[in-house]
Amino acid sequence: MVIAIDGPAGAGKSTVARGVAERLGFTYLDSGAMYRAAALAAMGRGDRSVAEVADELDIQLGERVLVNGTDVTAALRSPTVSEAASKIATDQAVRQALVRKQKALLENGDWVAEGRDIGTVVKPDAELKIFLTASPEERARRRAAELGSDWRTVLKDQAIRDQTDSEREHSPLRAAPDSIELDSTGRPAEDVITQIVSLVRKVANAR
Ligand code: C5P
Repeated sequence: MVIAIDGPAGAGKSTVARGVAERLGFTYLDSGAMYRAAALAAMGRGDRSVAEVADELDIQLGERVLVNGTDVTAALRSPTVSEAASKIATDQAVRQALVRKQKALLENGDWVAEGRDIGTVVKPDAELKIFLTASPEERARRRAAELGSDWRTVLKDQAIRDQTDSEREHSPLRAAPDSIELDSTGRPAEDVITQIVSLVRKVANAR
């Protein structure tokens, strides 16, 4: 069974997806970490295309993210990598390379997969699709707290990233028509996790 959780940066996807996976004993897939890993690897790529680098990347996701055997967990969260990830994510060939890896992972087992296009492109037949949102201010405050930076600066960077993600030609950030939209503004993560877990149970019972 696959639960897709899509939405903009800072909507709470990672915390919520991790929490739902933990409660249900499902595996968590952070697809954004793959775009970040590809962006980081592409920084020293010489004259190879980003898609080539992305295609050959050996990414191991988990508590720590290993790229070609190196632990890059901390580096992936930097604002420079965030911006670079959002840029390379507009490249259709890069997306194809990463979507292929994501589809292969999701083929077997029970997953909570988080991203921008899980419910629309990677796994359109996911058993449950959630589109998680929150107000731009709250999203920026959450990211700023994580990064230890000023939320107004984060808000500006976030607006640029939101625009790139939702206006790009290939797989723009969009709610799947059959997704359930949840607004996490002002809600504790635990509350949203409980709501999604009960939605999963409903879906599982109806099968
Ligand atoms: O979710 P996260 O902030 O880690 O994602 C980093 C960037 O990767 C996003 O801004 C987005 O451009 C891209 N991304 C994507 N499709 C996904 C996941 C992430 O385009 N499924």
